[in-house]
Amino acid sequence: MGYVDEVIERVIAKNPGEPEFHQAVKEVLESLRPVVEANEEVYRREALLERITEPDRQIKFRVPWVDDKGQVQVNVGYRVQFNNAIGPYKGGLRLHPSVNIGIIKFLGFEQIFKNSLTSLPIGGGKGGSDFDPKGKSDREVMAFCQSYMTELGKYIGADVDVPAGDIGTGAREIGYMFGQYKRIQGMFEGVLTGKGLTYGGSLGRTQATGYGLLYLTNEMLKCNGIELAGKTVCVSGSGNVATYAVEKAQQLGAKVVTVSDSTGWVYDPDGIDVAALKEIKEVKRARLTEYKNYRPNSEYHEGRGVWSVKCDVALPCATQNELLLEDAKMLVANGCIAVAEGANMPTTLEATKYLQENKVLFAPGKAANAGGVATSALEMSQNSERLSWSFEEVDAKLQGIMVNIFHNLDDAARKYGHEGDYVVGANIAGFEKVATAMLAQGVC
Ligand code: NDP
Repeated sequence: MGYVDEVIERVIAKNPGEPEFHQAVKEVLESLRPVVEANEEVYRREALLERITEPDRQIKFRVPWVDDKGQVQVNVGYRVQFNNAIGPYKGGLRLHPSVNIGIIKFLGFEQIFKNSLTSLPIGGGKGGSDFDPKGKSDREVMAFCQSYMTELGKYIGADVDVPAGDIGTGAREIGYMFGQYKRIQGMFEGVLTGKGLTYGGSLGRTQATGYGLLYLTNEMLKCNGIELAGKTVCVSGSGNVATYAVEKAQQLGAKVVTVSDSTGWVYDPDGIDVAALKEIKEVKRARLTEYKNYRPNSEYHEGRGVWSVKCDVALPCATQNELLLEDAKMLVANGCIAVAEGANMPTTLEATKYLQENKVLFAPGKAANAGGVATSALEMSQNSERLSWSFEEVDAKLQGIMVNIFHNLDDAARKYGHEGDYVVGANIAGFEKVATAMLAQGVC
């Protein structure tokens, strides 16, 4: 059995009941075969793949808090510090009832390569809790965030581990967590990113993941002789990533006709109204059923269905495993030419394979959604030099980073004989830098 297969088997045996983590490891390691085969003797001796698939540490803790009725509630908190070979751990905090250790590990593992691809000095980590901010009062969210940070605060720091937002963790949650960290440590430092603009946040961070997704998609299309302007786009999700993906796609001349949430989806033949979307989701924190009140021409459907709509470009921006094989088949049948992942691992392995076999350009999340973490790293730089850059400066840097990421993965894919396979390219380009750093740092 080859080294890659041995390590995949070992990961599955040693991490039972963590299918998302197995899926992520499989996807990455299988596409690294060309590099691993070229360096097998050294990698085996140094146990490089065993080390890179085992987190530096996994922290799991109790998060007790008091709800508005005076009842004590208990959630589970996590932080997985996966790999700091090229910089302090960096990765978001997910607050969602589906969160478990396997999900956090899959996200942390992906984050290592994503962060490396940005070319900025950040390692990989991820955290979160099974707490559900939906339907909670601001006071309850604050009580949870303070309790969560009371424990997490022992393990993080501006040069150690710098968490950020993710599903369920937006500006409100980051604010409460930052306040508690400051209070406990007696220190104002850039320990979290995605902070508010009045206390160390970066202009452009809110938009970064969605905008970055479009900068990379645009470059990918351009390099394949296709224009984004005039194309029809389907977006899933209606959170941070989705909203700003819709905004930038429309600024670049495309028409976005769908958005979704966990209960249903909207089809707007005239193009999604971003101002209405922001008001519903960011201001009212309401459901998408309200969208029809703003746009009577639109349709609301319960359940899944975004990928059944005819489009040129599909941008999954909600959550993992939301684009299945049957969806990929519908996209191909409807003439879709490109899929770029705004969410982390939204496309299943079978769906990805089907899309690639059918010549759909496919940009994996670790490259396509790296704009968020890249801008977080820019926030860290601004915090370190105690300066704030203008929106234009941050946005220009983001564009440069995303264009550069695309060319790095395009080049890596070519170098190893997989031209046009951006999954292989992204994994190899991200891995090579981390592997070189790990080998240089000895057995640790
Ligand atoms: P938000 O919480 O802002 O939005 C998430 C969206 O996805 C909501 O519309 C939500 O619907 C929907 N969703 C969540 N879970 C499910 C589910 N199980 N089934 C169907 N829909 C679901 O999160 P973000 O926009 O920040 O994150 C979206 C994705 O992008 C995640 O995979 C995240 O890891 C990834 N990402 C985020 C970055 C960032 O900077 N924010 C950076 C890089 C990646 P509802 O409102 O009904 O829950």
